[in-house]
Amino acid sequence: MDNKKLAEMLFKDNKLSVEEIEKKYPKRKLSAGAEVTRFAPSPTGFMHIGGFFQCIIDRNIAKKSGGVFYLRIEDTDKKRELIGASTIILETLRRYGYTPDEYEEKGVRVVGEYGPYFQSEREEIYKAYAKKLVEEGKAFPCFCRKTEGLNDVKEKREKMFALGITEDKDPCRNLTVEQIEEYFKDNKPFAIKLKSKGNGQGKIKVNDVLKGEIEIQENGEDAVLLKSDFMPTYAFAHAIDDHLMGTTVVVRGEEWIPSYPLHIEIHEALGFSLPKYIHTPLINKIRENGGKTKISKRIDAEADMRFFAKEGYEPKALIEYLTNLANSNFEIWRKNNPNADVDEFPFDGFNITANRPVFDIVKLNDISKDIISRYSAETCYQKLLAWAKEFSGENVAYLEKDKDYVLKVLNIDREKEKPRKDIFKWSMVLDYYDYMFSAPKSYQIEEADRKRFEEVLRSYKSHINLTDKDAWFGSIKDMAKELGYATDNKEYKLNKEKFKGNVAKVCEFLRVAVTGHKDSPDLFEIMSILGKEKVLERISLIV
Ligand code: GLU
Repeated sequence: MDNKKLAEMLFKDNKLSVEEIEKKYPKRKLSAGAEVTRFAPSPTGFMHIGGFFQCIIDRNIAKKSGGVFYLRIEDTDKKRELIGASTIILETLRRYGYTPDEYEEKGVRVVGEYGPYFQSEREEIYKAYAKKLVEEGKAFPCFCRKTEGLNDVKEKREKMFALGITEDKDPCRNLTVEQIEEYFKDNKPFAIKLKSKGNGQGKIKVNDVLKGEIEIQENGEDAVLLKSDFMPTYAFAHAIDDHLMGTTVVVRGEEWIPSYPLHIEIHEALGFSLPKYIHTPLINKIRENGGKTKISKRIDAEADMRFFAKEGYEPKALIEYLTNLANSNFEIWRKNNPNADVDEFPFDGFNITANRPVFDIVKLNDISKDIISRYSAETCYQKLLAWAKEFSGENVAYLEKDKDYVLKVLNIDREKEKPRKDIFKWSMVLDYYDYMFSAPKSYQIEEADRKRFEEVLRSYKSHINLTDKDAWFGSIKDMAKELGYATDNKEYKLNKEKFKGNVAKVCEFLRVAVTGHKDSPDLFEIMSILGKEKVLERISLIV
């Protein structure tokens, strides 16, 4: 039996031919230099921060070259699939303003002409290409599990090695026509495997945009292309899809580098040209022992992109932070362009400097503080409310009812030339400003200061003046003098023993009485918003 007949026998139920398929997926009409990228996650769980890192690169490459960024769900392994995972992925992308140019939302919409965008719906396509490879003698059926009473390839190989056959090739590639026909008649399940041309010994040079030329072991494995349920493996499916969907740049994790030679061999067997590949480094975290290990689903809350949504991080902050991880020039650029949109940063997705990026939440918080400090009070209010509606329902009614008051609170130290940089996520706002909503539950005061603290508060009852900032501070100074505190810092430093402290200490006492904390945004603004009555009420709780 020749290969053509063999292919006919194995794929007698195929509905599509390669020619028909190629016609359905014409070359994309894009301008010169436009790149097509894809995010191709397996829907096995939540969206990982490493996946989102790749999306930033994907999207920048497509956007800045005038190309296309599409989403392809690689759901051929039904055993590992988690229901709802593809929805989480799309929702995450939307939240960040990264809605792909092409994607499919099951039962809702398909955007784009190159679908289906779920691999599980492309079975006929993979079968057509598998048939073609069998026809061309580049692939063969493997009946391993059921043949010769052997359980798997490993066992079969061991037997071959015992017989002195050391070539790392699948024995099924040598089945006789009669054997195949017989197995087939017996309805023995079979997989389709690549007839690898390599021997797995030599080295080949492969290209990666980020790492340059890499020398790596060639492929020698007769790898599975279609499993016995006729679902494709990742290696086979992605090669076909990237070809048909016109992908020009594959951005994926560096864990794929070892199987890159196999992928190249599959592309060659199929007669496809190779897209560019960018293998991105994994994102690490510094551990307590000082070591670096990759961010892990099991131990790191930040591995799951939903963590940032729940905490109320600004999407822009995440994008900026991860862009900064991808390209180390970001920080200087941001310094020189404090108000520019992150999209203006010259990052085309290819100029990645990341080596072993380390995720540092403190850095993310700083970036986030910076962004939020530039928002108006109204913007903050809208974002806080939107966050509460999604994640903190118990606060919505209050936020809506007392909008004016909340706006005043949010405006403390805001909308000025040098706004205070303190808020970095919406979930912290109500706690952070708890003293604006109720009296402090505890006071940051040392026992040694207790007497002076109470003395200041007692006296302030008759000195409070909230007319304006000058009057407010003027009367604090008057009171400080009366009580024996210095109002001139130089004088205080020269003759500390002559004073009970300086006026700054007096302000600290007042701040602690009103807010509970030694540190807070502008105390005059806080007192003014609370109003004279409330401030006095708070003082009366203490003295
Ligand atoms: N489905 C693969 C994964 O989730 C994608 C790798 C790729 O982007 O090609 O790891």
